[in-house]
Order: sequence, then structure tokens, then C-alpha cells
Amino acid sequence: MSVYAALGVTPIINAKGSSTRVSGGLLSPVVTTAMAEAAGLCVDMAELQAAASRVIARITGAEAGVVTSGAAAGLLLGAAACLARLHPARMAQLPDAAGMPNEIIVVRSQRNAYDHAVRAAGARLVEVGLPDRYAGAGIRDAELWEIAAAITPATAAILYVLTPHSQPPLAEVVALAHRHQLPVLVDAAAQLPPAANLRALPATGADLVAFSGGKAINGPQGSGILCGRRDLIMSAILQNLDLDLDWNSWNPPAGLIEKQLLPGLPTHGIGRSAKVGKETIVGLLTALELFAAEADEDRTARHLQILDQLLQLTPDLAFTLRPGPVPLLALRAANARAALAELQNGNPAIHLDPSALADGILRINPTCLRPEDLPLLASRLRAVVIPSSEL
Ligand SMILES: *Cc1c(COP(=O)(O)O)cnc(C)c1O
Repeated sequence: MSVYAALGVTPIINAKGSSTRVSGGLLSPVVTTAMAEAAGLCVDMAELQAAASRVIARITGAEAGVVTSGAAAGLLLGAAACLARLHPARMAQLPDAAGMPNEIIVVRSQRNAYDHAVRAAGARLVEVGLPDRYAGAGIRDAELWEIAAAITPATAAILYVLTPHSQPPLAEVVALAHRHQLPVLVDAAAQLPPAANLRALPATGADLVAFSGGKAINGPQGSGILCGRRDLIMSAILQNLDLDLDWNSWNPPAGLIEKQLLPGLPTHGIGRSAKVGKETIVGLLTALELFAAEADEDRTARHLQILDQLLQLTPDLAFTLRPGPVPLLALRAANARAALAELQNGNPAIHLDPSALADGILRINPTCLRPEDLPLLASRLRAVVIPSSEL
């Protein structure tokens, strides 16, 4: 009996992609084997994160990095690092950020539900800009001078949520921040592929960059990366590790934690609630190596092959191929909303990508589909979806 059957849980057909609610992606056996091996031996967690830092630094070009329990956890730890820096008293005080620079500036159009993690560290978000290009009332978003005008002695950092549409450009925000000795914390959770972004984003000079490990990297569902400046990564990991230790005998791994920079040993920090296990760290590092080693074209070709097999099984459905870093199939349906619900409520449940549902379009994401899912997916789509006659 499968582990899921024993729990009375039915696996789904995932045509949505590696979203958290549909359990992330399908791990390579190379990754799960490494995780099982890691789970069978105990290690010193600081030493393991120091090794992770070396791997992440090699692959991203950043000075240092740690494995987190997700990109959101990376934002929590990154914000906590920007607030507390290397002061154990400030670390102990968070999320009460009174008496220290505690404002994090963010462009209003970049606000989103994930910035909860930044606020959870104790930061107060200061919004700038009027994104009237989204309101249809104008053409502008936030501009650099608006960020500059919001910088005060209370500013701790600038949060930048990266998408292809983010304004002002990241490099300009970084240059402005550095003129004021402020760090930039980048939420790049879903900005992979292209794999080149692993290096390109730290190369902008951004001080901290958070990636999700459970999305395109295809690591453990609850994993992520925070990479960047050495002192900030040191602060982040100090607020995450179990440091219930004796100062005199504490011998942390140099390269990740420079003991001589500290006046004493921090206590359990705000990041303790974002704890990451040894098997997750090893799983993420293994997946990261695989992801970085595969060319984007080869990954896309794998995804296209799955979509092509589905097309051959659904000759009566007029799918269109939507190219992109992750290619998708799109289908305009007369009953898009009802079809999505019926497929989702069936047995097994089939989850489609709902991102264009408002336009009556169903989307198929190939990243979490197995070849053996395709016959059932095709027959359910053909039975349930009423193709639209509209163009
Ligand atoms: C998915 C996502 C996150 C959260 O990533 P996790 O690894 O699931 O914690 C944060 N920010 C953005 C923009 C995302 O798309």
C-alpha cells in the first residue's frame, strides 16, 4: 500500500505546476536518494549550512548563502538580518523593532501576500509610488526619486519583488540603496527559469536574494535559498540556527559565522519558526546542482514532449501552445469555470492552471505531469470541457 493510500489521501493529477497547495513538484530519484541518506546520519547543522553556503556561492556567484524552508522563510530571515544586523540584542528583541531602523521601503505595485514574511520579522513596510499604469489611468509606476524621497534614518532596507514588469529596474534601485548604505532584499521566488537568473540577480549587487526551492529548482517542497552579502547571511543564519550552546566552547564554521564579530551568543531567534532539516538541506543542494547543470533548452524540450503527448491524445481539443520559460497549453472553453471545478472535484482530482480563467481559458502546465497521467487527463478533458466557438 502506498504511503498516501495508508492515510486515505488520493494523489492528484497535477497540470497546475509546482504550487504549494498542490504539494510542489515531483522530486528526482537522485534527490530523494540523497535525502534518505542524509536522514540516516546526524551532523552539526552549522557545519552543514556552511557547506551549503559554499555550494550556493559557487552556483549563484553570491558571497554566501543558506538553505531556508522556502522563499518566504528567506524573506523572513532576510528582513530579520536587515533589521538586526550583527547585534544579538536586536536579534533577541525581534519582532519588536523599536529603537532600531525598522522601515523597509517597497514599491506599492510590488506589494503582495508574501510580504507577510517581511512584516513578521518586525519591519514596517513603507509603500511608495502610485501604479496608475495598472489602474488604466496613466502610464507610470513608482520612480526612483520616489524611493529616494522615502529614505530616512529609520530605513533598514529596500524590498524588491522581481517580475519581468517590476519598476524601477533592479540595478537602479540597488545603486540608489548603496548610495545610502542600505541593503536591497529581493524576492525572486519564482524568477527561475531562466537558470541564468541564479547568477544574474546577485550580480546586480542586490544584497540578499530569496529563491524558492520547491518551484523550478525542483527541490523539497519546503525549501528555498537566501543568498547574498556575507555579513547579512551570517545574521540570517544566526537567527535561524539552534544556538543553545556555551559561548566558550562554541566553535562555529568560519566562512559562514565569524565568531570574533559577535559580542556574545544570540538566543533562539525570530527565524527559529522557519527551521530547516538536514534532509531538506541536502535535498535542495542536490536539486540545485541538477537544475544548474541542465540547459534551459533541454528542460523546455522535456516539457514540450509531455505537452506534445497530451496533444496527440486530444485531437478534438483546439489547444494553442503558449511559449515561455515554461511552455503551457491553453484552451478557450465555453464552460471554463465549471470544467475546472468538475475536474478538480473528480476522482482522482485533476488540477489545471487557473491563471487565465477570467478570460475563459484553461491552461495546462507540464512541469508536474508524469507520462502515465496523460491518458486519464486527456479522457477527462475530452469528457468535461466544452470547447468555445469564440476565437
Ligand atoms: C512562491 C512565492 C513565494 C513563496 O515561496 P515559497 O518557497 O513557497 O516560500 C514568495 N514570493 C513570490 C513572489 C512567490 O511567487
